[in-house]
Amino acid sequence: MKYSFNAASIASMPGLFGCAAFSNGLPYIDSSRPFILKNVRIIDVITGEVLENHCIQMQQGKITEIFPVHDSIEPSIECMDLKGRYVCPGLIDAHCHSTITSVFAFHFFSAWRHLRQQQANFRLCIESGITTIRDVGAMRWALEWYIERIQNEWIPGPRVVYCNAMLNIKGGHPEVNPTDISYFANAAKPFIGIPTVNFESIDELKQALQQNSQRASFIKLTVDPISAFCKADLKIPVYTDAHLKIIFDFAEKNNLPVICHNMDKVAFDRMIQYPVHSLEHVVTDAYLSDQRVSDFSKKNIAVIPTLTVGQSFSSHIMFDKFPTRYKSDFIENEIKIRQHYLENEAYQHIDSSFHALNQDTMKYYQSVGCKNMWEQKIFLGNPDKTLGLLKYGTENLKKFKDAGVLIGVGMDAGMPFCYFGSLYRELELLSRVGFTNHEILRAVTYNNAKILNMSSEIGHISKGKYADLVVYDKNPLDDIRVCRSPKMVLKDGKIVISKLQYS
Ligand SMILES: [Zn+2]
Repeated sequence: MKYSFNAASIASMPGLFGCAAFSNGLPYIDSSRPFILKNVRIIDVITGEVLENHCIQMQQGKITEIFPVHDSIEPSIECMDLKGRYVCPGLIDAHCHSTITSVFAFHFFSAWRHLRQQQANFRLCIESGITTIRDVGAMRWALEWYIERIQNEWIPGPRVVYCNAMLNIKGGHPEVNPTDISYFANAAKPFIGIPTVNFESIDELKQALQQNSQRASFIKLTVDPISAFCKADLKIPVYTDAHLKIIFDFAEKNNLPVICHNMDKVAFDRMIQYPVHSLEHVVTDAYLSDQRVSDFSKKNIAVIPTLTVGQSFSSHIMFDKFPTRYKSDFIENEIKIRQHYLENEAYQHIDSSFHALNQDTMKYYQSVGCKNMWEQKIFLGNPDKTLGLLKYGTENLKKFKDAGVLIGVGMDAGMPFCYFGSLYRELELLSRVGFTNHEILRAVTYNNAKILNMSSEIGHISKGKYADLVVYDKNPLDDIRVCRSPKMVLKDGKIVISKLQYS
């Protein structure tokens, strides 16, 4: 006889796994008492080893004990037998925009679709095994609203570490004002916030630093002088040295790490002179020399490559004639994989009308021409940045890896075609670039936890850490594609997703 965790079967099987009760169709764990996940294979993401036949005991949302199955268990402690399944620490997405709905267009009558997608973004994280995210540019008030609901367990969602909005000089990346998207977006700004600050004067910068850092865990800068979107003028303004001095002084005084969106070599060379915590994306317009990489590796700056954002915008549709400088078997294969995702999997992650709009907008590349798109209020990736991320970015990344740079994982979810729920695309892309499965798993858990300054709390299964766990049927160390389908996800010691069936 087969049982599954759905509402109908629950009433007939109270206490099946020793759980006292069920809630929302999921086994309910009373976190005030000890609870044991029995008979699991624990993946140690630091060493790449698997601890066979183990038990994980938890209480008050934390892991309290890890011990071999044959140790005796006190009969009064409730257990769930996972029958030899693999358990990984909850995944962490270190670069995403949870309040952005992956479409750069807004029509008043589709407001409800945006609200629905925002809420889905958080649920999709949990369903894909992500228990913590680092939001690197959010609509501040909307984000706080969702965080409160997640904390109260009204909606499923991950733990959120955030910076509020990105701290932009006016006209700097991402060069998008609310009025460029919709006049309604401007009117909604006081209620939901906007993902960028857009300061002009020194006074505005100082004020923005104060206001935007409230409850924030870090400061996000965008440092590139070349537009990442198709703007008439490719050059965009960057912070002056005076701006940067004010920002880094403020960051040091308030103990806030500074992270930088960086794809251009010239900005890379400039920013590594500063005490930067992490560079987001990776240099897309030049190969870095071995010497440069070696110097960089000594500065303890992390890198979150977000290769998927490069793949997501790479298509033959952008050109009448595909530029020979980007022709390679690797890029050709990535374009095919992108197409397969967009046609077969994306619908599980995004509102279908948003997806259709993104697909339609891609066609403008040929009919309007990249350079005219800004005037028409169309925002799409600058092909030199997206294809450059695949061509130069992947090579630079391999050098960083070999030099021992701390590499994290994120995929810029919230951007067009970078949909929440598909972090597996980044994991699999890293595998195609040459990362081992162990390196990938460690990056998306342990490395990301370090990048979030939370390695004492998350990112590894050990005593004292949050009981954030993902359960898989197979071993992701053997095949990283296993990460596509978690069977159960726990956050803070509570089951938030379960697809387990027992017979
Ligand atoms: Zn981003």
